[in-house]
Amino acid sequence: MAFIFSKTQQQRLKELDAPDEFFLLSFETKSERDKRFQEISTSLEKYHRENLMNFLMFKKPELKRIEQALEKAAISEGFVEVLTPVIISKSFIKRMEIKENHSLWKQIFWLDESRCLRPMLAPGLYHLMSQLRKFVNPVKIFEIGQCFRKETTGQQHLEEFTMMNLVEYGDILEPEKRINYMIDLIMKNVGLKEYKVHQVDSLVYGTTIDVSIEGVEIASAAIGPHPLDKNWNVYEPWAGIGVGIERLILLKENFKNIKRISRSLSYLNGWRLDI
Ligand code: ATP
Ligand code: MG
Repeated sequence: MAFIFSKTQQQRLKELDAPDEFFLLSFETKSERDKRFQEISTSLEKYHRENLMNFLMFKKPELKRIEQALEKAAISEGFVEVLTPVIISKSFIKRMEIKENHSLWKQIFWLDESRCLRPMLAPGLYHLMSQLRKFVNPVKIFEIGQCFRKETTGQQHLEEFTMMNLVEYGDILEPEKRINYMIDLIMKNVGLKEYKVHQVDSLVYGTTIDVSIEGVEIASAAIGPHPLDKNWNVYEPWAGIGVGIERLILLKENFKNIKRISRSLSYLNGWRLDI
């Protein structure tokens, strides 16, 4: 009979973000297994402790650092930073044409009958695009902020995560090229060189241009004119991209478990606290 790590042991290895190969080990006796578990967990805990101590000297979480690097890069490229509400109205969800039978609708955290926590930044930015077009052309804005979605699946989804959304609207030539430029702006400043760009079906936009690394989506982009535009008084070409900041860090740091990067009481900047 072969023994694999117990559920509790596997859970601990997950928390410590142990490499995949450890989950596949099997042993002839329980005591051999428990001994190996002790060795692995002690060595991982040591690694977390050392990095936690380093972080306590450095003082700024990677999530903030990347946010600030992207902020600086976007501003230097002429984008204006905006801050829109985290609490949004049901009418904004309806204007995105997210319907009650859509899977995304079921992911929304409702506060009451008419308000929810934003699952995306697009509604706020759509609204501002049309407002600001009266004053400037093209409108170039971006927001970095928290979004909320009820998620059931594992390692790459958080229920509260940080999105950056960049949009250009108005007199823009060749929106597709602007998407490539935005992708390049983001990836260059995060220091991620190897990525794939491909077209994907999307519930909200019909199709999106997605950026992925090793099969993990990190950004979705869309261009207009688009059928949704009329709901927002938007009538000219636009290009926009939404990128998950935690996903960027997940891929950059080669972590498996996105919880390490999230707002957390169990991890600080990726390092486990109960060690
Ligand atoms: P996925 O298919 O991975 O659930 P999505 O296509 O639903 O993602 P979008 O609406 O395109 O996500 O959001 C833009 C970006 O925000 C994604 O590419 C991803 O980087 C990030 N993102 C979306 N949902 C989450 C989540 N629950 N946790 C962390 N990041 C997320
Ligand atoms: Mg997407």
